[in-house]
Amino acid sequence: MSWALIPLTEEQREIQRTAAEFARSEIAPHSDLWDRQATFDRGVLARMGELGFLGMLLPPEYDGLGLDTCTYLVALEEIAAVDASVAVAMSVHNSLPTQMILRWGTAEQRERFLRPMARGEMLGAFALSEPEAGSDAASLRMQAERDGDCWVLNGTKAWVTSGSDAEVILVMARTDSAAERRGARGISTFIVTPDLPGFHVGKKEDKMGLRASPTVQLNFDNLRVPAANLLGGEGKGFVYAMQSLDNGRLGIAAQALGIARAALEHATRYAAERRQFGKPIKEFQAIQFKLADMATRITASRALLYAAAAAKDRGEPITQFSSMSKLFASETAMWVTTQAIQIFGGYGYVKEYPVERLFRDAKVTEIYEGTSEIQRIVIARELFARGE
Ligand SMILES: Cc1cc2nc3c(=O)[nH]c(=O)nc-3n(C[C@H](O)[C@H](O)[C@H](O)COP(=O)(O)OP(=O)(O)OC[C@H]3O[C@@H](n4cnc5c(N)ncnc54)[C@H](O)[C@@H]3O)c2cc1C
Repeated sequence: MSWALIPLTEEQREIQRTAAEFARSEIAPHSDLWDRQATFDRGVLARMGELGFLGMLLPPEYDGLGLDTCTYLVALEEIAAVDASVAVAMSVHNSLPTQMILRWGTAEQRERFLRPMARGEMLGAFALSEPEAGSDAASLRMQAERDGDCWVLNGTKAWVTSGSDAEVILVMARTDSAAERRGARGISTFIVTPDLPGFHVGKKEDKMGLRASPTVQLNFDNLRVPAANLLGGEGKGFVYAMQSLDNGRLGIAAQALGIARAALEHATRYAAERRQFGKPIKEFQAIQFKLADMATRITASRALLYAAAAAKDRGEPITQFSSMSKLFASETAMWVTTQAIQIFGGYGYVKEYPVERLFRDAKVTEIYEGTSEIQRIVIARELFARGE
């Protein structure tokens, strides 16, 4: 989009063009069918891996592109503008499991996982939520007990994006169940591969939107994971998950931004084509005002996102900015897609036109990686912590 408030560098524009062209030629022709049939196309992610889109934030020594956060988010917006389901797999993979292994993994774990993940040969997933532990993730029940050189995992993870197709799943489990230690401190993170006996893919959710992204339950039945697969320090897993979600939320903000921008583009084109009362509906001020408000909120979302990304790359704490960015972009996506349907009138309400899918896909951005209520709690907590 030429109306980015913050100018992109030549390298960023090049990556933006590559992502947009890939989305246009390799994803767009299939998106409607994938949505209708709830099909996850692993092949498209493999091709994205070949282009480097699954190792955008990994350093070149691990076959990554070693890019800054903003450049990654620019690419992610382009993918999301065409298919939010593909974008969420890209976002989770780049923001969560790869970054967690890079940051807290041992040399051996990095060697084993990061190169194939950067190349898209191994897809990553992040399993924190459970049926009874959503916003209150620290109440999770998945149990890990040490047995010789293994940990034995038992329990159920819920809502795992790409969980049925991932080759690397970062699983948060309770390693210290002593009553006084229940809560965030007794949780550790494990690198689980689906070949381990005791790993079972459970129910696949039949979702309103993001239908081409498989969201599944994962059941762990005496799953023996080698002790070498513990990520970082024992009992630190919850802290790792929360710190990683600061980064993950920027990815979800970029996904929401892509959805909103696509809705605006479709609505602007439609307003020029659709005629009522003898003229294009874009000549009605009511329609112009809607489009103006949509464009303003989208531009503000993007400016906030790029500012948060820049703060991250400067090494500053971004918990509050990341929550603000995700909150604002996701509520913008929901609002903008609602307006887009209004501009399309009845045609916005049917599957033949693209805004119907965008509206369905937008909703989840207000829910996952922390609901809007949780983002507001985080933002307010930071305000009080700083005495503002
Ligand atoms: C499509 C999809 C993909 C997902 N992918 C993943 C994934 O890959 N990995 C993963 O670990 N999880 C994933 N999730 C889970 C997601 O992060 C949770 O759904 C989310 O955190 C909310 O938890 P919940 O659904 O249990 O809702 P609940 O926590 O039960 O919340 C219900 C309502 O209560 C509100 N609420 C809860 N607590 C408070 C509070 N203290 N103050 C005010 N309001 C509150 C919530 O905001 C919400 O409106 C995914 C979810 C979906 C829908």
